[in-house]
Amino acid sequence: MASRTGDLVSQVHPAHQLDLDPLLRYASANVSGFPSSPSHFKVSQFGHGQSNPTFLLEAGSGATVKRYVLRKKPPGKLLPSAHAVDREFQVLRALGDHTAVPVPKAFCLCTDPNIIGTAFYIMEFLEGRIFIDAKLPGVAPERRRAIYRATAKALASLHSANVDAIGLGRYGRRDNYCNRQIERWAKQYIASTAEGKPASNPKMFQLIGWLRQNVPPEDLSGTTAGLVHGDFRVDNLVFHPIEDRVIGILDWELSTLGNQMSDVAYSCLPYLVDYGNGGVDQGFELTGIPEGIPSQAEFLEDYCSAAGKPWPAVAWKFYIALALFRGASIFTGIYNRWLMGNASGGERAQNSGVRANCLIDFALSFIARKSVLPEFPPSDVSKGFSEERGRFVPSERVKVLRDKLIKFMEEHIYPMEREFSKLAQSESHWTVHPEEERLKELAKKEGLWNLWIPFDSAARVKKLIFKGVGHAFSNDGYNSLLGAGLSNLEYGYLCEIMGRSLWAPQVFNCGAPDTGNMEVLLRYGNEEQLHEWLIPLLEGKIRSGFAMTEPQVASSDATNIECSIKRQGDSYIINGTKWWTSGAMDPRCRILIVMGKTDFSAPKHKQQSMILVDIRTPGIHIKRPLTVFGFDDAPHGHAEISFDNVCVPAKNILLGEGHGFEIAQINFLYLILFTFLQGRLGPGRLHHCLRLIGAAERGMQLMAQRALSRKVFGKFIAEHGSFLSDIAKCRIEVERTRLLVLEAADQLDRLGNKKARGTLAMAKVAAPNTALKILDMAIQVHGAAGVSSDTVLAHLWAAARTLRIADGPDEVHLGTIAKLELQRAKL
Ligand SMILES: Cc1cc2nc3c(=O)[nH]c(=O)nc-3n(C[C@H](O)[C@H](O)[C@H](O)COP(=O)(O)OP(=O)(O)OC[C@H]3O[C@@H](n4cnc5c(N)ncnc54)[C@H](O)[C@@H]3O)c2cc1C
Repeated sequence: MASRTGDLVSQVHPAHQLDLDPLLRYASANVSGFPSSPSHFKVSQFGHGQSNPTFLLEAGSGATVKRYVLRKKPPGKLLPSAHAVDREFQVLRALGDHTAVPVPKAFCLCTDPNIIGTAFYIMEFLEGRIFIDAKLPGVAPERRRAIYRATAKALASLHSANVDAIGLGRYGRRDNYCNRQIERWAKQYIASTAEGKPASNPKMFQLIGWLRQNVPPEDLSGTTAGLVHGDFRVDNLVFHPIEDRVIGILDWELSTLGNQMSDVAYSCLPYLVDYGNGGVDQGFELTGIPEGIPSQAEFLEDYCSAAGKPWPAVAWKFYIALALFRGASIFTGIYNRWLMGNASGGERAQNSGVRANCLIDFALSFIARKSVLPEFPPSDVSKGFSEERGRFVPSERVKVLRDKLIKFMEEHIYPMEREFSKLAQSESHWTVHPEEERLKELAKKEGLWNLWIPFDSAARVKKLIFKGVGHAFSNDGYNSLLGAGLSNLEYGYLCEIMGRSLWAPQVFNCGAPDTGNMEVLLRYGNEEQLHEWLIPLLEGKIRSGFAMTEPQVASSDATNIECSIKRQGDSYIINGTKWWTSGAMDPRCRILIVMGKTDFSAPKHKQQSMILVDIRTPGIHIKRPLTVFGFDDAPHGHAEISFDNVCVPAKNILLGEGHGFEIAQINFLYLILFTFLQGRLGPGRLHHCLRLIGAAERGMQLMAQRALSRKVFGKFIAEHGSFLSDIAKCRIEVERTRLLVLEAADQLDRLGNKKARGTLAMAKVAAPNTALKILDMAIQVHGAAGVSSDTVLAHLWAAARTLRIADGPDEVHLGTIAKLELQRAKL
């Protein structure tokens, strides 16, 4: 069973009592957001596995209590290099600020001994789960597998940190790491077993001798060295409260630069040895791997593929022997301190001498083994059967982006949702929250910008713009604006994450209707149009609207549209009324793509054209904002707009007169006559579906959290049978819809829009209906809170409901599916 991080505390140990008044003053002044004069300030101590005493601080007034973690040096005389909390703070800061490695946010470091007697730092409290026992008792087999996978991934992520780029280049020496470790721990062993101390074990010197002889050559130069955690084990990881992913790597006391394989071998020790029952038993690789936990080779393969490291078979014996030797030396030190009467840990310390000798014996027998690891990773042996090679498994590149995105969402988007909503419901609702613009810049820096752009569209723009003269962008500047060169399927995994929050997509410049409009320009804009409108849109400096729907005609059939676009000399004159032009209320909106008829007498599908219209052009009147179940979706909103003799330069026409339908497939792909359309559909078509899966996942998460924390009629909602069957059915619903949507994205990549249209239509019907079902259930579980604005559920539900109409009415998509089905029957 996992322990909740908040449950691992108890009363502060008498030897570690803190002076609360100066601590409170210091925290209020140095930790942004720390309550300044809380009515409640409580300190308790974490009891699990820290040599640097670690405390939970709870401060607040009334029902609002904020939680932080304080970590300090132990009191008393210490070795100068030991318990260096300043180094821990340094590494947490560097990783937290510059990488996607999951670590708690480090707020401040205090080296002034006058506050609580020793140096300390304050960091974020991570609400989550810790698995104390590596065998994961009480955890379902499939979740054990996921937890081990996440562990391998977390280790790979910390090993992938570019220490030079994040200011940790001098965090330790890189060369000769293993040699230095051997000498350091040999010295320590000798010191702990000198005269009057525990007897030294001659086998230890045999082990030292073997290690000295077998240091892998790659260790000498340190060229492959990097950040080493030093104590990487599953119980030093905080997992998400519900999802099986790591949200924080703890206890960086032994971190340094060096040979990372030492960390990997150390993390594998539970496979080989078990410190239970007073001695050292064989680990579960030998006694039987608990169901679901991957084998050591599978764990290593996960790590190697995520970290991009070669299969470590050649030197594996050495790295494991080194980890066992280090453990033996540490245990001997503890035993020595226990004999001298100054070791904490009671019986555990008393047994340390036995443990040390067992580890030495085990290390020697391990060295004597003929084979300690298969020559090749398991998937090389059984190609095609590895889980990692399944059909919808994102590539490593996408996984890295997805992790970054998840971290960004957790750190910057979810915490701001309430704040954004507050502004959107205030009198200043048609203004933009400054934090949104700041986050956009941050997203750009993090490489999470314009990820929706398909690689083929990016290629067209590059070609067009670079052949033009005098543009203001360097090649590099452009590249960063043109996304990551992803396929529709690859973007799908990321778009889903963004869909978990209504506020997220625009922060990454991946929101509707801008993506659809940019896609139109990417594919059909000429060079001048790209410079004038596409570039500022790609930069996120302006926003846009798409004006097709009209109040007086059934707009799901775009042939009904009545707005006229008449040529007059070098201009077009536009007259008509549009409504539901999303984004037009946004103060940053500058450009509208207007669809209307240039020739009322042409064949039905050649009458329509699209034209670029500057929203500030005289004759454009924003008549009113429309609301969706009472939400006006400020600041972007949905506008009713009249066009009264609006005069637009003729060069603003897109692709020429009569091409409206051809272009519309990009943006409003539900046009009823879409089988007549030519060309290739753009990805904008699927974005809503992908985001809806994200909204459904958010609903699942909130539903589960509520059910696990709210008691009704004497037990948690999660303990009521009816809830269990409901949430299980919801999960089935989400999984099958996700598969359908990913399948549609994959078909779009492989087959093009025409062949994929049936699956696309299915995804368009299934995604909003699934999201609505899940969100409705989540609302139900929240009771009255669910329909209020206190959670995101009501707004997510309202947005999802519109997509059964706004992304083309269900009936239109169902018509497509039925038609294809009947055609198939005729064959
Ligand atoms: C939140 C939101 C945002 C929007 N944003 C935009 C935007 O940015 N730009 C824009 O131009 N428009 C936008 N729209 C408008 C949207 O595109 C239209 O509402 C949609 O195309 C349907 O057109 P309509 O409202 O005229 O409904 P109608 O065409 O009148 O259809 C009404 C109903 O008739 C039924 N129906 C339609 N076709 C069939 C069929 N073939 N078989 C059986 N029944 C059928 C369906 O039940 C349908 O819901 C938005 C709408 C919403 C709600």
